[in-house]
Amino acid sequence: MTKIFIDPGHGGTDPGAVGNGLQEKNLTLQISKRIRDLLAVYENVQVKLSRETDQTLSLNQRTNMANAWCADFLLSVHINAGGGTGYEDYIYPGTGGATAAHQNAIHSEIMKMIDLCDRGKKQANFHMLRESNMPALLTECGFIDNANDAAKLKQTTYIEKNALGHANGIVKAFGLKKKEGVSNMGELTPEQEKVRQEAMRLGITDGKNPFREVNQYYVWNAMVPLARRVEELEKKVK
Ligand SMILES: [Zn+2]
Repeated sequence: MTKIFIDPGHGGTDPGAVGNGLQEKNLTLQISKRIRDLLAVYENVQVKLSRETDQTLSLNQRTNMANAWCADFLLSVHINAGGGTGYEDYIYPGTGGATAAHQNAIHSEIMKMIDLCDRGKKQANFHMLRESNMPALLTECGFIDNANDAAKLKQTTYIEKNALGHANGIVKAFGLKKKEGVSNMGELTPEQEKVRQEAMRLGITDGKNPFREVNQYYVWNAMVPLARRVEELEKKVK
């Protein structure tokens, strides 16, 4: 059993970085929950979040939780700020082996999914990386105070692609296998395949979801971009 501990950065009284009407704590929670949902279709993997709501947690509480749970991997999700643009991730300085290999796998899968510039694979003496007993990675998924990055962070499709990149990276890093019968969509008719391609072009699906059951999040994720577009068009008509 592979145990993945996901830490949505900040929360509660600590909003993290803020900018362009966004708060880091909300984005990190959205992304983290979505990574957990995406990993649910894989076997022999357990996912635990440091928080599932808008909760205040100290850094020590977070690493204590991961250490006590004996996680195999810690992922701390953050949004950047301070003047810049793009995606970057961090491991503890001087760590090689599994930690560096996981960083490589997750970094490259995220870069495949998102169209933010690549700021590189970095190292830093952060609490979450230093005080965790297991390989740990901290991701910084775009700059909240950059207008272009923030515009992407406001899109459901960006959040989804970002989460999918994280999940795909974890799948690769730990060699996870899909649960039997879950990944198989069965043969599509040419008609169904056309609809699938069109849904991918419109950014309302990655072409694979739903793996098993259509949950609320999946429906919202498909409907919100369409509803937004209708809203925009209605505004133009007025
Ligand atoms: Zn942060």
